[in-house]
Amino acid sequence: MAAQESFDGLRAYRLDVNVLMTLAAIGAAMIGRWAEGGTLIFLFSLSNTLEHYALERTKSAVRALMDLRPAEARLQIASGTKQVPVEILNVGDLILIKPGEKIPADGQITAGRTTVDRSTFTGESIPVECDVRDEVLAGSLNLSGQITVRVSKRAADTALAAIIHRVEQAQSGRVPTNTFVQWFGQRYTIGVLAGAALFAIVPPLLFDGAWRASSYRSLTLLVVASPCALIISTPAAVLSAIGRAARRGVLFKGGSHLLAIGTVKAIAFDKTGTLTQGRATVTDIHPLNGAGQQDLLALAAAVEAASTHPLAQGIVSTALKKDISIPAVENATTIPGLGASGNVTFKGSSQRILVGNRRMFTAEGFTIDGVVEEAMQRLEEEGKTAVLVGSDRILGVIALEDPPRPLATEISQRLHEVGAHSISMLTGDHRRVAVAMAQRLGIDNVRAELLPEEKADAVMELMREHRRVAVVGDGVNDAPALASATIGIAMGGAKNDVVLETADVVLMSDDLSRLPFAMRLSQRTRRTIVQNLTFALIVIALLLVGTFYGKIPLPLAVVGHEGSTLLVVLNSLRLLWFR
Ligand code: ADP
Ligand code: MG
Repeated sequence: MAAQESFDGLRAYRLDVNVLMTLAAIGAAMIGRWAEGGTLIFLFSLSNTLEHYALERTKSAVRALMDLRPAEARLQIASGTKQVPVEILNVGDLILIKPGEKIPADGQITAGRTTVDRSTFTGESIPVECDVRDEVLAGSLNLSGQITVRVSKRAADTALAAIIHRVEQAQSGRVPTNTFVQWFGQRYTIGVLAGAALFAIVPPLLFDGAWRASSYRSLTLLVVASPCALIISTPAAVLSAIGRAARRGVLFKGGSHLLAIGTVKAIAFDKTGTLTQGRATVTDIHPLNGAGQQDLLALAAAVEAASTHPLAQGIVSTALKKDISIPAVENATTIPGLGASGNVTFKGSSQRILVGNRRMFTAEGFTIDGVVEEAMQRLEEEGKTAVLVGSDRILGVIALEDPPRPLATEISQRLHEVGAHSISMLTGDHRRVAVAMAQRLGIDNVRAELLPEEKADAVMELMREHRRVAVVGDGVNDAPALASATIGIAMGGAKNDVVLETADVVLMSDDLSRLPFAMRLSQRTRRTIVQNLTFALIVIALLLVGTFYGKIPLPLAVVGHEGSTLLVVLNSLRLLWFR
């Protein structure tokens, strides 16, 4: 393998460490040191294999990230919808896309309104308003509304397919992150080869000495000076740590995130679905203006059926539990941080129903009078989230309770212990509810009633103060905040593709205790890398000095050199058992 690569290298006129190692091995064979040559090749291949494995892993991670297009689409057929693979979609087919889902094909909207995140194409995650007849592209994210799309291109011809193709072509070259190592390796190799040549030629000429002894020493220098251990120090440690984290349900989308997470000084949590379980249940139904309890819940559930928000799921599941039949809805839309709306056909007539917070209702032109405000305040003081339900008038208030996650009460203290000075809560919920929850969890910094963009602003503020900030969230409304932070962390239970896409780290097990674990693992990885580099440098320096003074025989040089590479790898592998 090493020989094969050095051959490839020579063909491309590249002198790199592979060439160095191969020359050293051939040289060892030439002077009759077969065993040393063999050991050298074996150990070198071993460390090369490990390095390749690490690089392959990063490459396939990149590939997975590129795989933005969903594999299936919801095709409209006579009897409803059916999941089909995108490959069989034809031009003219109608597909249904719910909020929070990726768009599976290029096409034109035929029903519904929504906002779409096109950052895959533009790099900017600014939501774009889309209405009937607007074009949408496969791979962008449908943010707020349920839409029907007429497919305009087959899967192989979409704009995304073209981009993926371009990236694949670019990638078939070299892995760009490795260019520094290559650059260094080349200079270093040339230097060492020149040094070895001088060693072999100069002493015999000057001192009329033995050619055999000096070429032997020159070969030893070749072996000693190969920086294998240095090169493998970082990938070996990072790979082991990423593997360890993955087995505990923490997915890092790249080595840099793993190294960074241990250095954050402030952590901001979203409330609903992150600090709480995201399993809200309806506790109070408070009809106003003559509506009935059952009807109120039925109308709200109809609108929320299209939403993936925890509050929405709470309302729907409570309605189902009470055996209330959920009416049909059209043009269902959710507005992150505010609420949901849609046209509901109920008892023979269709009306637009809104479910959401004060902000949504005020923006829609409702006045919230004393009676409504009083009902909401009473519920909020009990730590419940109160949402309004309305049509042309306010029909009532529904209160939901969402219990905190099992570990939420200790999380603040455990994060302090691993070096995060500041813990805050960012939420779109009402201030009273947020403060009640924060007090229970021992979190002192609370920012409430935030819209998604305002969450991002709050994160920018934290960044100015603390420089390195992690944000943990679960909903589409957290995506801008996640993107603004040094490290964005998503709860794996998040049903929302947008968040999982934006995040740098995903907590698959939805378990908050993984967070201090990930930070400690990161800190240990950094320490391991420093140990590796120090050790590798010391060994090279010692062996070089030994060679210059002629005291080190080739077998010992091989053992010292490759032994240090192995020790570095072994030291890194310890991370696989990190607790
Ligand atoms: P958090 O930041 O705590 O996760 P969100 O930003 O998702 O909360 O929501 C903030 C507020 O917006 C909620 O407390 C609720 O009042 C309202 N809201 C958001 N989505 C919905 C929805 N689908 N139905 C009803 N209310 C909603
Ligand atoms: Mg949330």
